[in-house]
Amino acid sequence: MNLTTFRLEIDLDGIALVTWDMPGRSMNVLTTEVIAELAEIVEHVASDAAVKGCVVTSGKESFSGGADLTMLQGLGIEYARLAREKGEEEAMRFFFEESRKLSLLYRRLETCGKPFAAAVHGTCLGGAFELALACHYRVLSSDDATRVGLPEIKVGLFPGAGGTQRVPRLMQTGDALQMLFKGDQIRAQMAKGMGLAHEVAPRAEIVDKAKAWIRAGGSPVAAWDLPKFKAPSGKVYSPAGMMVWPPANAIYRRETHDNYPAAKAILQSVYEGLQLPMDLALKVESRYFAQILRSKEAAAMIRTLFLSKGELEKGARRPKGAAKTALKTVGIVGAGFMGAGVAYVTAQAGMDVILVDRDQEAADKGKSYSHKLVTDQINKGRAKTADRDALLGRITATPDYGALAACDLVIEAVFEDPKVKDEVIRKVEAAIRPDCIFASNTSTLPISGLAKSSVRADHFVGIHFFSPVEKMLLVEIIKGQATGDAALATALDYVRAIKKTPIVVNDARGFFANRCVGAYILEGHLMLGEGVPPAMIENLAKMAGMPVGPLSLNDEVGVDLALKVVRATKAQIGEAAINPAQEKLLVAMVDREGRLGRKNGKGFYDYPAKGQGSKRLWPGLADLGGARIAPDTIDREEIKHRLLVVQALEAARTVEEEVVTDPREADVGSILGFGFAPFTGGALSYIDGMGAKRFVAIARELEAKHGPRFAPPRLLVEMAASGGTFYGRADEIRAA
Ligand code: NAD
Repeated sequence: MNLTTFRLEIDLDGIALVTWDMPGRSMNVLTTEVIAELAEIVEHVASDAAVKGCVVTSGKESFSGGADLTMLQGLGIEYARLAREKGEEEAMRFFFEESRKLSLLYRRLETCGKPFAAAVHGTCLGGAFELALACHYRVLSSDDATRVGLPEIKVGLFPGAGGTQRVPRLMQTGDALQMLFKGDQIRAQMAKGMGLAHEVAPRAEIVDKAKAWIRAGGSPVAAWDLPKFKAPSGKVYSPAGMMVWPPANAIYRRETHDNYPAAKAILQSVYEGLQLPMDLALKVESRYFAQILRSKEAAAMIRTLFLSKGELEKGARRPKGAAKTALKTVGIVGAGFMGAGVAYVTAQAGMDVILVDRDQEAADKGKSYSHKLVTDQINKGRAKTADRDALLGRITATPDYGALAACDLVIEAVFEDPKVKDEVIRKVEAAIRPDCIFASNTSTLPISGLAKSSVRADHFVGIHFFSPVEKMLLVEIIKGQATGDAALATALDYVRAIKKTPIVVNDARGFFANRCVGAYILEGHLMLGEGVPPAMIENLAKMAGMPVGPLSLNDEVGVDLALKVVRATKAQIGEAAINPAQEKLLVAMVDREGRLGRKNGKGFYDYPAKGQGSKRLWPGLADLGGARIAPDTIDREEIKHRLLVVQALEAARTVEEEVVTDPREADVGSILGFGFAPFTGGALSYIDGMGAKRFVAIARELEAKHGPRFAPPRLLVEMAASGGTFYGRADEIRAA
């Protein structure tokens, strides 16, 4: 055998050790080559009488992240070619056979007559974990880095190499469905508890333990291939089964609103598969897999949430030639709500933090937030006391600006007041090294304006976090007019270090995300004013694919903040820039009713004290809006369209205005920043997906009914006429 992606050694007991170790890559991935070599290995183990069994492990720091999704994309391209040249049926036959190759290979491994054991350390996800599941025995390393799981659903796919069949044969159906629906990464002990692994051992011992199992006569037959096998939840058609399936259907609807074909396919595949012997069950899974692989939702989600997100994280927007920065010490000025969160994520990433506020007490208070967050982790068993000591040891809280001299980057998060910012910029610049980069976390003030306070505007950049900082995955980097390459590169390197996803936007009011979010919240407010029942606004928003309704979202960010933004916009730009109906509603909520949002337990919702039940829409809303429209007369599709179209239009405007210059950033930013219906692939993919022509037609209808905020920008009208797309346009610009 001539192997390049695996090493094969056979020990004196006749146990083969297969080490997956792809040259020139930091991580193993399933590629066509890997699949071909693994097939050769399985045949070799199966046919050589001297080989008693086989242990599969990895030569890398991690086991493997799963399949190379570009390989799957390639399949789609081949399908399209065949469909054109040989017809749909021939293309589908090819596609089905190709897309089930991995599943057949794993089944061959499972039934080849020799015992296989997997020795897993580090992440082992997707198709790689399906390989482990096909092995007859699984040993996981007890190391904290070890995680297993089937995250396919997160990119609109589903586990198509046996995952939907082997998992529900290992655990109760309800638990299996949850695992497949959520796609979470599971720690070793937890995985063992769930029945996903047989043994957990220190990293250095996993291979020996796996070999010991083979040596002790480990069986080469999977439990489900034994005649007397019973699935943990029993038969589908049984009283127990009937306790599972009707609620499972309801949960599926509640969680997805039928927007995710992959989730439905999981449900179908498990339901049908559990009624069949394994080989047939796998064939059923393969049919669904082929169907999902070709869905537009999978294509959109893979592009945005896997490919584009990965490219942006790896520095797609990093200025070519900018020297790599080594960030050791980061200063944070303003230890309030945001600064405290930024200090935590920075220290968490291993950097030293100088946390400055007006006095020692305020700085200490900011630092204590990190104490709280790590303590929460300790209580959940996810961190040790030593981790907390180390993390807090990296944060120096002080009122002394002089301490910033050691910093490579300083981020200010002081009050959103141009005068305060001006003073802080001057004081910081007097203290830092000439090569240190200065970043502002402002959410509304133009970066180019703030940079006027700076004596080194090329070293000045915006790094806009979202709250809560420790949870939100997106960071907007704002390029001011004078921002230079070194500042941009440093900001990108910093965001990479704290393991978040950056988008780079040009300086404009609201940048990118807040503009779209603002449009979404405004639409909710206006619907309320029109008399749409608030529960319908909230529920239809979720049915359209948003994680939370606009009223709920406004409660989270603060109703008073929304009023503040409206007032500031009016003062700075003028009456025409705001919507009077929204202003009226917000004034009534904040000034008259004192309803500020979740922070004071009263917003569009009432928030009962802990343990007193969940939030409920505030009944008083009935008196704030217009006369209630009878729910049955409301066009639900129109409400759903309004809520998504208004955001997508705003995203399109940011492209026209060149605030956003790369469609990948708008798409990734809209999903990670404010949860824009992920199955669409993001705000611009939503337009591309239905075609600009149809989108413009919908927008025009809404414009006629609801006013000029739905007027499509010129760029979209042109795209509608030419049949263009945002991604096609970006390719053309890049090529020119
Ligand atoms: P905050 O009021 O919680 O914190 C501001 C902190 O700055 C306070 O601790 C204050 O003592 C400190 N401060 C004020 N003047 C100072 C000075 N001269 N020197 C040192 N420290 C000083 O405010 P926040 O919500 O954390 O917002 C901070 C910045 O982040 C603002 O620019 C805001 O627009 C931006 N931002 C906020 C959010 C959000 O959701 N709150 C999101 C993104 C960006």
